[in-house]
Formats: sequence, structure tokens, C-alpha cells
Amino acid sequence: MDLTFTPEEEGFRREVVAFLRDKLPARLSRKVKSGLRLTREDMTEWHAILNERGWLANHWPQEHGGPGWGAVQKFIFENECALAGAPRIVPFGVNMLGPVLIKYGNEAQKQYWLPRILDGSDWWCQGYSEPGAGSDLAAVKTTAVRDGDHYVVNGQKTWTTLGHHANMIFCLVRTDKDARKQSGISFLLVDMNTPGVEVRPIITLDGEHEVNEVFFTDVRVPVQNLVGEENKGWTYAKYLLTYERTNIAGVGFSVAGFERLKRIARSVKRNGKPLIEDPLFAARMARVAIDLENMKTTNLRVIAAVAGGGVPGAESSMLKIRGTEIRQEIFSLTRRAMGPYAQPYVEEALSQEDYAGEPVGPAEAASAASAYFNNRKLSIFGGSNEIQKNIIAKMILGL
Ligand SMILES: Cc1cc2nc3c(=O)[nH]c(=O)nc-3n(C[C@H](O)[C@H](O)[C@H](O)COP(=O)(O)OP(=O)(O)OC[C@H]3O[C@@H](n4cnc5c(N)ncnc54)[C@H](O)[C@@H]3O)c2cc1C
Repeated sequence: MDLTFTPEEEGFRREVVAFLRDKLPARLSRKVKSGLRLTREDMTEWHAILNERGWLANHWPQEHGGPGWGAVQKFIFENECALAGAPRIVPFGVNMLGPVLIKYGNEAQKQYWLPRILDGSDWWCQGYSEPGAGSDLAAVKTTAVRDGDHYVVNGQKTWTTLGHHANMIFCLVRTDKDARKQSGISFLLVDMNTPGVEVRPIITLDGEHEVNEVFFTDVRVPVQNLVGEENKGWTYAKYLLTYERTNIAGVGFSVAGFERLKRIARSVKRNGKPLIEDPLFAARMARVAIDLENMKTTNLRVIAAVAGGGVPGAESSMLKIRGTEIRQEIFSLTRRAMGPYAQPYVEEALSQEDYAGEPVGPAEAASAASAYFNNRKLSIFGGSNEIQKNIIAKMILGL
């Protein structure tokens, strides 16, 4: 990225680049850059490499295993990782549950769960949404009823990303049916191997299995798995969402995606000329380039505002909207650049390990369509973009 950093920041950036050059397996970065499917093993392999360097939980305080970075260092790290084609850090344990446990968990929970997030003993997933409780998240109906030293959980979660890989799920559950709806919710950690938990796949528009439904029938959960106080879960849930939204903006992913688009548009021909010289296509690319530059600056402005610590508040909604719009436009243009070669779904192509990385090969064509369809999700999850606009209207504009 052509941003100006202080000499210390530039030194840090070089350290990150050197680490990625030495430690990021070429096999993994090739898969990421070509949009191929990553297996559970691919994702855990990258986590282990980062953990060994002490850079996995880069939002955590040092006393719990974080590297003690400031906001600019996190920004540099995320951007360089995206540019190098590093797999994304699976966010549920490290970026979502970790900060909640650090802030609201008791000592025993921190001692037990945090090291297990770092060393990969547990794969977490997020049990927030339910049929009828998405944007209106406080409408969750899954119940947890106290029975001695257990809660008995009944209900259903949905859209549970990578839940089929997970052994643990953090859930919002209703513990008081009579209270105002935000007041009767608790935050519970559930072992997915407990009898009564059932995971069913949802196959999405791109033909892939990424999300699931999770059903709970008389699932017994020890009371020590309650985080914080009973019926105070809404506070913890909102705290977690701020972390989730800031991560979704993904400026680094847009920069990397735009580089890939330029490479493809230079090699694909339209009317005998490289597509990048087509005036209409070039105009759409220029629009993205301008929006991306603005986004980088806005991102840094928000980072500067929280440089003393903490996470952005309602500004994270702004980043989420613009960041996801830009990413979706890049996916759309990449698919268009492939024209008829962008195939709706080619199962084999997405797992082609030996793909040599030609500028426009069959895997790249298949993944262009798959990525376009898959990433319609960006403007929906983490709170839809319409909901983010409501938050901005209320919290920033005071309407
Ligand atoms: C691919 C994917 C992965 C996901 N992963 C997870 C996960 O791992 N864990 C998890 O808990 N959840 C997950 N989600 C769920 C996600 O958070 C919800 O889909 C999202 O919050 C929207 O809720 P909904 O789908 O129920 O849509 P609804 O809330 O029914 O909304 C439907 C439409 O109405 C609009 N709308 C609703 N209310 C308003 C309003 N007040 N003002 C303006 N417009 C409004 C919305 O913007 C949307 O366009 C995932 C979703 C997707 C698509």
C-alpha cells in the first residue's frame, strides 16, 4: 500500500513482510490468491504458524498472549497478510470470543479457554442468529433453563459459519422469558459433542457448504459455562459485534482483490484488446480505485481516533458498509472479466491443489463465479448494511 508510515512503522511492516516470505507456505498463498477452497487443516496450519510467532491473537493484551500491538500495527499486519495471500484468521475464537472472555469472563474461564483458542484445541463457532432473530437479534428464542448445576438448552441457531468444523459454540440463550427482551439473554459456551446437539448443512448460492443450522434438544450445559452474569448477555453480545464489524471492512482484502482484477483485466481480451483498455470497464475499475483510496484514508482516520486503545464505536458501521460495497464490486468486476468462463460451480476446480496459477486458468474462472455468489453475504452478516445505516443515523447523525 502506498501509505506513508513513520520509520518505526515502516520497520514493523518490513518485519511482517519478511515473516510472510519465510513462513507463509506457498501452497496456502497460491490457494488463497486463486480463490480455491481452504480445508480445515489449511486454516489450522496457518493459525499454528501465527501462534508460534505470537501474532495469532493480535487484538489481545500481552498478559493473555497478544503481541501488544497498537492499531496501526494491526492495520499493517492485516494488509500485508492479505497482499501476501495469507488465509484469513478464522475469527470466532480469536477475534470474537477471546475479547469477550478477557473483558467479562471469570478467572477460571480465562485460564481454561484462552490458551485453548491459541493452540487450536477448540474450534469455535457463533450461535447468535435464529430463524426470526437476525437483524432483530434480541428476539432469540433458544431457551436455557437452570436445573441444578446445569442449564438445559432447547432451540435452534442458523447460518452458523463453519459450525461443521467446530467442537464449541458460543450462544445467546434466553434465560428469562418475562423480562424485556434485551434483559433476559445470557451468553453460554456449549460443547457441541454434548448429546442433543445436531448440526445440519446449508448449501449456499455458490454451491458450497460453509454455513449450518444447529439444533439443541435438552442439551445439558454446566453452569460454569455461563459468561458473566445471567441475563446480562446482551451487553457482551454487543461488545463482540463491534469487533466482528471492524474485521469485516477488510481493506487489505480489497487491495489484494483489486490487484488480482487488474492482472486478469490485462490478460483477458475484449474486441482484440486487453479488457483493461475497454472504456466502460476501465471507468468502473477507476471508480473502485478512487473508492478504495478514500476507504484507506477513512480506515486510518478511525484507527487514529482509537490509537490510545479500545475499538471503534459506530464508526465501525461506516467502515463495514463502504468496505463491503467495494469488495462486492471487485468480485462483480472479476466475474464480468471472466465472461462466459466464469462458471457457476465446478466442485473439482475449487479444490485443485496443483493449480499452477496461470493468469486466467480454469480454477480462477470457477472461483470468480463462486466468490461473486459467496460474497453477497458480506452486506448481510455481522448485521446487514441497512441495519448499519440505522446505527449511523442514530449514533452519529443523532436522528
Ligand atoms: C453467509 C452468512 C454467514 C453467517 N454466519 C453467521 C454465524 O456464523 N453466526 C450467526 O449467529 N449468524 C450468522 N449469520 C447471520 C447474519 O448475522 C444474519 O443473516 C443477519 O444479521 C441478517 O439477519 P436475517 O438473515 O435474519 O435477515 P432479516 O433480519 O430478516 O433481514 C431481511 C432484510 O430486511 C432488512 N431489515 C431488517 N430489519 C430492518 C430495519 N429495522 N431497517 C432496515 N432494514 C431492515 C435487512 O437489512 C435485510 O435486507 C450469517 C449470515 C450469512 C448470510
